[in-house]
Amino acid sequence: MQSPNQTKILILGGGFAGISVLRELESTYKNNDSIKITLVNEDNFFLFTPMLPELASGMIRPSAISIPLRMVCKKTEFIQAKVSSIDLKSKLVAITRPFDGMVKILSYDYLVIAMGGTTNFFGNKQIEKHAFTIKTIQDAIGIKTHLIHMLEIADTEKNPALQEKLLTVVVVGAGFAGVETIGELNDFIKDSVRSYYHNINPENIKMILVSASDKILPELGEELGKKAYESLQKAGIRIIPNTKAVDAGEDFVFLGNGETIPCDTMIWTAGVTIDSVITSLDCEHKSGKIVADSYLRLPNYDTVFALGDCAAITDTKTGGLYPPTAQHALRESKILSHNLKCAISGKQNQKQFNFESKGMMAIIGKRDGIAKISGHSLTGIPAWFVWKTYYLMMLPTFEKKLKVALDWTVNSLFTRDITLVRKIKRKSINQFSSDGMDSLDQVLFRSEESAKIQASKV
Ligand SMILES: Cc1cc2nc3c(=O)[nH]c(=O)nc-3n(C[C@H](O)[C@H](O)[C@H](O)COP(=O)(O)OP(=O)(O)OC[C@H]3O[C@@H](n4cnc5c(N)ncnc54)[C@H](O)[C@@H]3O)c2cc1C
Repeated sequence: MQSPNQTKILILGGGFAGISVLRELESTYKNNDSIKITLVNEDNFFLFTPMLPELASGMIRPSAISIPLRMVCKKTEFIQAKVSSIDLKSKLVAITRPFDGMVKILSYDYLVIAMGGTTNFFGNKQIEKHAFTIKTIQDAIGIKTHLIHMLEIADTEKNPALQEKLLTVVVVGAGFAGVETIGELNDFIKDSVRSYYHNINPENIKMILVSASDKILPELGEELGKKAYESLQKAGIRIIPNTKAVDAGEDFVFLGNGETIPCDTMIWTAGVTIDSVITSLDCEHKSGKIVADSYLRLPNYDTVFALGDCAAITDTKTGGLYPPTAQHALRESKILSHNLKCAISGKQNQKQFNFESKGMMAIIGKRDGIAKISGHSLTGIPAWFVWKTYYLMMLPTFEKKLKVALDWTVNSLFTRDITLVRKIKRKSINQFSSDGMDSLDQVLFRSEESAKIQASKV
């Protein structure tokens, strides 16, 4: 029940940044009725994005990495809705209910903007049309379904060039999402071929990572990025550095270096952009993001805070912006919550955000990873194990931790699950020769022709 004297905190976005601020505030204000917290998110769950590549490779199930937001909202009111506009001057936010499009206006005393980013195709409509993305649960399931279809068709394809095209996966973008995705899918495809698809020539599997720079995983720094580069190459992945994908069709990717790669699967992870609700805000922006000062407040708006992928926060040591990672979002949330509580209580000891990395890591396939923890570099199985343990601990709720741990154990003991639970859109018949297999149209056409021939003979 809302009382007029309550202080209203409104959190927009229930990703890493939003829910970790929420948890900090809940633990402080759980018995304080003068504080009302509201969370708005367009999905009714929090998605643990670092495990999306494992969902695409069938190592874990969707329910293991999606946590209903109502499970973490003990005191907080949760509203499933899309934020459609923010008026910083009048302290009002318009939200739209996805079910029926009804709009509601929320007022706030303190606002936390944590709406993350969306995929950036840099205006390239062809790539947008033909590429998969890996940002949502539907994306990851879509990739897995598509790849199993490609394996099924490739197993009946006798033409080596066409089999290779079906088994070529091009991932564009060499940040966390791109590297972890190619590593996982490489193992998924190769394990599945070994176990089930005996007509496929493993030589025809081509896994390709396209990077715009000469490095991969820039978020992890030069040394670890170099190790990751070598590990991917050792796993049989071709890395094409200093190159951009500039065009794509249903069965090819065209690169800036002039190379055309015939392929039926392209996954785009090369850019993050910010929702137009954020870019249209009447405040300072950098690279489309909202500029937040070192206290994580918006300049000129003392009661508005921003963090995570949607916020531009300057690293005073390098002069650049902090990278968009879950680890930054989580660390920012601690400082932001402290500063927000100070602002509410009128205390002056607000803290500045300064990211000192305690460690960085990434997994690059089954039982392979790279990590730097307290200055010590790890690679291979130890790094992979540290990644698994860290992210297992980070998962909210014991139930989800247990589900993920069970999935990892079961799926590493048994062969991959290649059950096709969804159908995909049929591709043009010209793309497959599939000896002895034709489309229904071709079969019907031939039977009509042969009926005509039979009739003419009579
Ligand atoms: C495949 C993949 C792998 C990754 N691996 C790693 C990794 O290993 N390590 C790492 O540190 N980082 C990793 N990242 C990056 C990490 O996921 C992000 O940096 C992190 O999620 C940022 O947190 P956030 O809260 O700012 O944004 P998000 O987690 O994206 O949350 C934003 C939330 O806001 C909601 N939202 C957005 N717009 C609206 C709107 N208009 N109305 C209502 N709600 C809205 C979204 O639904 C979402 O719930 C990975 C990312 C991907 C995609």
